[in-house]
Amino acid sequence: MKSAEIRERFLAFFERHGHQRVASSSLIPANDPTLLFANAGMNQFKDAFLGREDRGYRTACSSQKCVRAGGKHNDLENVGYTARHHTFFEMLGNFSFGDYFKEEAIELSWQFLTVDLGIPTDRLYVTVFRDDDEAFAIWRDKVGVPADRIFRFDEKDNFWSMGDTGPCGPCSEIFYDYREMVPGPADPFEAIESGSDKVVEIWNLVFMQFDRDEKGDLNPLPNPSIDTGMGLERIASVMQGVSSNYQTDLFQDIMNPVAANLGLEMGREASVDAALRVIADHLRAMTFLIADGVRPSNEGRGYVLRRIMRRAMVFGKNVGQEGPFLHRQVGVVVDKMKDIYPNLDQERPQIQLLVEVEEKQFERTIRNGLPVLEKYLDRFVAEGREQVPGDVMYHIYETFGFPIDLMEDVARDRKLGLDHAGYREVLAAQGSDAKKPAQAKVHPQLLADAERFETEMTCHAGLKGSGTLKRILV
Ligand code: ATP
Ligand code: MG
Ligand code: MG
Ligand code: MG
Repeated sequence: MKSAEIRERFLAFFERHGHQRVASSSLIPANDPTLLFANAGMNQFKDAFLGREDRGYRTACSSQKCVRAGGKHNDLENVGYTARHHTFFEMLGNFSFGDYFKEEAIELSWQFLTVDLGIPTDRLYVTVFRDDDEAFAIWRDKVGVPADRIFRFDEKDNFWSMGDTGPCGPCSEIFYDYREMVPGPADPFEAIESGSDKVVEIWNLVFMQFDRDEKGDLNPLPNPSIDTGMGLERIASVMQGVSSNYQTDLFQDIMNPVAANLGLEMGREASVDAALRVIADHLRAMTFLIADGVRPSNEGRGYVLRRIMRRAMVFGKNVGQEGPFLHRQVGVVVDKMKDIYPNLDQERPQIQLLVEVEEKQFERTIRNGLPVLEKYLDRFVAEGREQVPGDVMYHIYETFGFPIDLMEDVARDRKLGLDHAGYREVLAAQGSDAKKPAQAKVHPQLLADAERFETEMTCHAGLKGSGTLKRILV
């Protein structure tokens, strides 16, 4: 079953059950400074949950564009490692604003999965919040899920919050067991707890009951409500009998043409396949973000976009791409998604142009920064040092925009490491110095992410073709 059919079946199912079909909102949240990007289907309904807005309907369904890179739900560092995390993805959801609650939400989800989609019940597990005996009883007594297939988890997994403040509540999640298709712990509870790709979370049902305020206190919502979210890419994997989202039509229809365009062959070298996965994921993210009006820059949303674009460029370079290559692949994403998101087609030339400009600028950055960095490195080697100090890292980054992950690559060629802790200290000191507006622009949320952002590349063992970049550019 193709992803387009699953998306449509979901929306039609909830429409049949009286829900208003609502279009996805923009990836740029309207009037919500607490949020970097839309990260869940419920974002656009935040005020309806809080009782501050009457939308004219009390139940709704949608397929929402989401980006989870930066901010509270940040998955950027997962992309490439897991079969199920993307920067950009679509979240299918049904919502009740003070209409139905736990029982109906649970029954509807089960009916959709096991009757409409026909997923065998013995492949499914569910979780509930630690002391939510009510949800446990509904699953066991009303739905008929055997008690040994219902697990209890604590706040970390079964209490959902949109952000540090706002609507939140206990949740109940549905998992799919890939069994022998994917290696991992034999015990399903352990497989879930360890976050392996063997037993995968597909759907989260949130029982919205509270509004968390700045002090962290939980205030009851005017009405108990329902917010659910199911990743389209994950349910497509289940329905297409594959154990990785990248094997679904959503990604194959992008990865195949991109591989052909770049002269790469899939399925021969692990590092090439991994690069293609990252490039496909990041291409989707940059295409949708630019179409929704985000522009690459050095702060906030634009900074995250720039990181995503540059990360894709680096992966391309590591598999032999010389010069700008990404902008020519934008059309592949537009063609795959334009029927559902027509604004992509309208914005196509603009997206291509912006990606090309960014690629050329990145090439320049490296050309200008590399010789200066190398002078420093030669000196440190001569002095017998083992690490590049944080202030030098900061200087090269600030002056040339030279990314830290590439610094790491070049430094490693000379057997030098980077002093990440020192760098973070310099970054934090600059960020808090109001007299330096240029540096103070760093988004506070991103400061917290800095370490992960800056070191993630090094974790992709095998992808760091040592010196590859240099050979291409020098
Ligand atoms: P996980 O534990 O796998 O990281 P999550 O608990 O963070 O997922 P939720 O916040 O509950 O995810 O979001 C609801 C649903 O959205 C998930 O059940 C999953 O199907 C999907 N989803 C969440 N994050 C991603 C992602 N980065 N890429 C693709 N789908 C995602
Ligand atoms: Mg997550
Ligand atoms: Mg989870
Ligand atoms: Mg979840």
